[in-house]
Amino acid sequence: MDKWKDELGSSRSASWTVDAIRPRLQDWTNRRWGHLSYRLVQMLSGHGCFGKYLHQIAGREPTPRCHHCPEVSDTVAHTLFDCPAWEAERRPIANITGLDASTLAEVISKILQSEDAWKAFHEFSERVLTTKENAEREREADPESAPLRRRRRAGRRRREFIRQA
Ligand SMILES: [Zn+2]
Repeated sequence: MDKWKDELGSSRSASWTVDAIRPRLQDWTNRRWGHLSYRLVQMLSGHGCFGKYLHQIAGREPTPRCHHCPEVSDTVAHTLFDCPAWEAERRPIANITGLDASTLAEVISKILQSEDAWKAFHEFSERVLTTKENAEREREADPESAPLRRRRRAGRRRREFIRQA
């Protein structure tokens, strides 16, 4: 476990996800709850329906902006902590964890201590990302939309996703 922790610390792949989980690696590995759903993984990794990811990595948005508020860069941190569009969805996490977390590490620490907190974070990820995905689909379907947003055939899209993963 210590060796793994050291390797993660020095790894070039160090990312905000690794930085957030690494201090609690033992608890993360030994946790008795904590199913990792598709959308929860998106929320932990940032690889999902976030403006910055869609713009920089997926090349499917002309800018990294948030489509739910005026923010110019839509990241996980923006979605999780700041975007005013998700205030109601965010409230159950704050109610359960009893703190206004401002880092992913703090959120991870809380969801490893309480199954209810994990469930609240899971629910937040499902609700918010489903709403964001639906909004993305509407942008794709809009004939006035930028061409790079246009819906691809399912097969091609699946292959693109696998290549990025
Ligand atoms: Zn926003």
